[in-house]
Amino acid sequence: MRFLVLSDIHANATALEASLAAAAGRYERIICLGDIVDYGPDPNEVTDRVRELAPVIIRGNHDKAVSGITGLESFNPVAQLAAQWTRAHLRPENLTYIAQLPAGPASVDGVTFVHGAYHDEDEYVFAPAQALGGLMDSPSTVTFFGHTHYQGGFSFRAGQIGVIQLRPEHGPNFAALRLEPGTRYMLNPGSVGQPRDGDPRAAFAIADLDHQVIEFWRAPYDIAAVQRRMRDASLPYPLVERIGAGR
Ligand code: ZN
Repeated sequence: MRFLVLSDIHANATALEASLAAAAGRYERIICLGDIVDYGPDPNEVTDRVRELAPVIIRGNHDKAVSGITGLESFNPVAQLAAQWTRAHLRPENLTYIAQLPAGPASVDGVTFVHGAYHDEDEYVFAPAQALGGLMDSPSTVTFFGHTHYQGGFSFRAGQIGVIQLRPEHGPNFAALRLEPGTRYMLNPGSVGQPRDGDPRAAFAIADLDHQVIEFWRAPYDIAAVQRRMRDASLPYPLVERIGAGR
């Protein structure tokens, strides 16, 4: 089974379509790690598309905030404005869909996935120490996580944590990670709609567990078109700038 792993789409329909086009024919099933909406200008288009794709899906912190499961007090002022805008623009049936998304961790066919940390869906995993709980306690050798919008991850073997950093070449391209026997992994596919790791291309992963290979992809998309829609929607300027910089 080959999985397309999507995370942090953040209401960016152009980045989602570019990712799906780049991945076409290379996977059988989709896993989605949450944060399908918020920040971007296309909450309904993205939610409609996700519902149609029917992935195995869990919720992210922005899905919770937009649908009112949590308050906005933990968000900075820019994120609060975006969440309010998103909540006001989502059609009722899309808001209902987002509100019913289950919490992680979830597992399918030997792969486990979470939005943030293994033990806390809202916690960030940036550093090796933060990945340790998932590396030790996940029921699967390979666990996918999102939330940080950084592509890469961590490995664990014989008591040692390793940091995995991949740099896919220019254009629509991937860097492949070959899974080593006896090693456990916490892997982040990166963010489709708002990358923060310095590469503005849409990020996702393809997991081929039969062949023990994970491909970390980047796909270019029309960022300027998304920025225009954000400006037209009067979404906060720092969010418009951010998708251009990939930070
Ligand atoms: Zn996110």
